[in-house]
Amino acid sequence: MYKQIFFDFDSTLVKLETLDVLADMKGIGEEVRGLTEASMNGLVPIEDVFEKKVGMIAPSLQMISTLHELPQVFVEGIEEVIGILHHLGKEVFILTSNFDVVVAPYARRLGIPAHRVVANELFHTDEGEYLGMNSRNALAHTGGKRIMIDQHIRSKNEAVMIGDSVTDLACQPSVHRFVGFGGVVVRETVRARADVFIEDSHARALLPHLLSQEEMKCL
Ligand SMILES: [Mg+2]
Repeated sequence: MYKQIFFDFDSTLVKLETLDVLADMKGIGEEVRGLTEASMNGLVPIEDVFEKKVGMIAPSLQMISTLHELPQVFVEGIEEVIGILHHLGKEVFILTSNFDVVVAPYARRLGIPAHRVVANELFHTDEGEYLGMNSRNALAHTGGKRIMIDQHIRSKNEAVMIGDSVTDLACQPSVHRFVGFGGVVVRETVRARADVFIEDSHARALLPHLLSQEEMKCL
């Protein structure tokens, strides 16, 4: 059964798009949400909007700390589900176009070690002001998640990916099963093409698609 389990971050592990929340802090939430939706639904290539979007938000370390103080952002039940996966000896990864500095505290709370967080990086001044992002990282480009997942997968038959957007769906050929997660937002292209699609907002609904029957019996 599956040994390596890859989760997208925004709208999959957490109930929001963290970059949109950072945009709200800047007062440009509406504008940025339009760009996010267009790229998550595959209407525009990620490289056309992503760096522009991040540059508009210009997330300082102070803004990111404020984000980290928001209560109850995890998808319901996700802490329990990741705990079960770790208990069963699974390697749980986060694979995201988001940034280390944004994702790391959430990964720590889920017990996911830093070497299994696959993310892009942001640059800041010593005072914590935004300098830029690593636009050379594959994750800033269309198909980048597929490139990065291929660097971590040992065996396709033992790998599963869970995500909400078309950028996650691009990993489908690399894994045995792609689970579309619609518990936060339902994207029709993902629903149509995923091997399995979950609309339950509670993460526990994922378990039968990640575990064998024997493993399910042990819960
Ligand atoms: Mg997502």
